[in-house]
Amino acid sequence: MNGAFRSLPSVDVAMQQFAAAHPDEHAPHDLLRTSVRRALEMAREAIAHGAPPPSIAEVLQQVETLLAGLRAVRLRRVINATGVILHTNLGRAPLARSASEAVVRVAQGYSNLEFDLPNGARGSRHTAVAALLRELTNAEAALVVNNNASAVLLTLAALVTGKEVLVSRGQLVEIGGGFRIPDVLRQSGALLKEVGTTNRTYAGDFERALSPETAAILRVHPSNFIQQGFVHTPSLAEMAAVAHAHDLFLIDDLGSGAVRDTSQYGLAREPLVQESIRAGADIVCFSGDKLLGGPQAGIILGRDDLVEEIARHPLARAVRIDKLSLAALEATLHHYLWDEAEPAIPVWRMISRPAADIAREAAHWQQRLLAAGVAAYTRAGQSTIGGGSLPGETLPTTLVVLQHLHPEALAARLRMAEPAVVARIEDDHVVLDPRTVLEDDVEELLRVISVSFDAS
Ligand SMILES: *Cc1c(COP(=O)(O)O)cnc(C)c1O
Repeated sequence: MNGAFRSLPSVDVAMQQFAAAHPDEHAPHDLLRTSVRRALEMAREAIAHGAPPPSIAEVLQQVETLLAGLRAVRLRRVINATGVILHTNLGRAPLARSASEAVVRVAQGYSNLEFDLPNGARGSRHTAVAALLRELTNAEAALVVNNNASAVLLTLAALVTGKEVLVSRGQLVEIGGGFRIPDVLRQSGALLKEVGTTNRTYAGDFERALSPETAAILRVHPSNFIQQGFVHTPSLAEMAAVAHAHDLFLIDDLGSGAVRDTSQYGLAREPLVQESIRAGADIVCFSGDKLLGGPQAGIILGRDDLVEEIARHPLARAVRIDKLSLAALEATLHHYLWDEAEPAIPVWRMISRPAADIAREAAHWQQRLLAAGVAAYTRAGQSTIGGGSLPGETLPTTLVVLQHLHPEALAARLRMAEPAVVARIEDDHVVLDPRTVLEDDVEELLRVISVSFDAS
């Protein structure tokens, strides 16, 4: 075995041989050395487990593989054929073209991010989007942070620390990824006082729970589940009445926070941001990349004095929004203001896409696939919203079904293709939903399917 170890080259010799064999390799010296060391380590480990010593060519091949692994871009583009519009694992909302263009514009050079051009003085990064958000929602003031989880945390830290916040027992929810409302409350320094029961809470329950230590009432939209049967939740207006009669703040965590009415597309009604403001919420928080269809962001709207207090809290700096997201958010908000959400914002284009249009698209894919030798047919199916919004709600769609002996293997090949394609497996078949496939991706999708179909 010692002899086997000795047959391996030294790091220096392996490096020289690698350089001689790969004159075009431009990896920096240190990176190459680390990769050579690692390849030799792997060889030693294999020998220790009884494998025959690898040839020098095999060691060099391993070095090449390691360097290729380091070179590979890991965050890659994916074609979403799942029919889940806000797929959290696939990056939630795809951006409007104007939004991604705004990102590039701001990323490649300098910008007036915190510079007041007319006055040549320091400005605020929030000015532009705050004006648009006020216009859209009628809120007095607006502040934007990193995401909605940080919006809720910051709001509670700034307004309720050391005091009590009342929350209905039916709204102490887990949003996903371990984000639990009671934990956030604890982190913010607010003291949670549970009110009512899991299934029924009344406005009077909040009245009875009040104490001199109470500072706020928090309403949490149970985004990702529905309660049915013997249930009751007070309306936001009722909660506002209780809060304001006792000088408390009403904070509304809307989660998704729609600015457009989802019920016009045959879906249940996701609560509207404008309605929360109108109903008397003092602060409303929601996400930028759920139904708003913009970048990851947390939007805080509400009373002027409270938003100012939130903006001044030290945590505000820790969770502030970056310039790229801000650029994308501004562009996205413009589409709402000018009533172009449906054509311009992908999430709304997908939600509003007529069933007949999808059926036509599916038939077209089927024809193209059949012509390429792929066994495909179409059938009726359901798309979902995803992203913890509108649970159980579906939109009718037409699926393209791939008839293949090994659906799992085919799905895996599609995932490993370039670009990667993520599909669903339903009733033992790979199915593709045209609703969530962007127009510009169709040709590549059909090519990837043809290639993957034959190979699996
Ligand atoms: C999604 C959600 C959050 C978290 O929002 P992020 O933008 O993902 O941080 C918080 N509260 C509710 C009610 C949600 O639905």
